[in-house]
Amino acid sequence: MAKTADSKTATDTAGIKTGKAPRARSAADTEKIRAALSERRDGLKTEYDQTMAEIAELQRDRLTDSAGDDQADTGTKTFEREQEISLANSILERITQVERALERLDEGTYGYCERCGSTIPVERLAAFPSATLCVTCKQLEERR
Ligand SMILES: [Zn+2]
Repeated sequence: MAKTADSKTATDTAGIKTGKAPRARSAADTEKIRAALSERRDGLKTEYDQTMAEIAELQRDRLTDSAGDDQADTGTKTFEREQEISLANSILERITQVERALERLDEGTYGYCERCGSTIPVERLAAFPSATLCVTCKQLEERR
């Protein structure tokens, strides 16, 4: 029942030289990405609010002056409204993407290339928050 004190296994924290592990991002870089993503999200939210306001306005127009409308006017307004709604949905989807990116950033799994595991440059992530490939792999993908 005596435990053999053999705890010499926890010594490999200092020198990881596996080469395969993705390079860890610096805290400063992580903050840069977070700032870029947050800014992106705020911009999208503003855009979303504006679109929703436009939809409400179109809806109001439809209700107030639809009495004098002929079939064509009604059709145009319905079309416009549908356009606005699909725009709103696509903005919402982009917001979700950015929020997911922020979650993954917190988990430490964000910003690494899915193919080669290297870090995706901060600038690229700022421009394309949903990017999952580094530039090199992306180019290879597009060339096929
Ligand atoms: Zn890659």
